Amino acid sequence: MAEIGNYLEGDVAEDVRHQLEHHLSHCQTCTVLVDSSRKTLKIVTDTGSFDLPEATFKPIAERIMARIRSGEIK
Ligand SMILES: [Zn+2]
Repeated sequence: MAEIGNYLEGDVAEDVRHQLEHHLSHCQTCTVLVDSSRKTLKIVTDTGSFDLPEATFKPIAERIMARIRSGEIK
């Protein structure tokens, strides 16, 4: 899941990215969420309109990070 951090490079503090990657390493639910967003990216690529690579992933990552920050999940 190291590429997740690359998606957020420059947008999110490094420690927050590490928290997100750590969470994804043990949380099946969020991993599935992120995986489905990446599948969406692939479909878009195959149709030749790969122009918003972060559009589907970012809101998902931000939702997970918000829950991490609130202490709801680790
Ligand atoms: Zn989770």
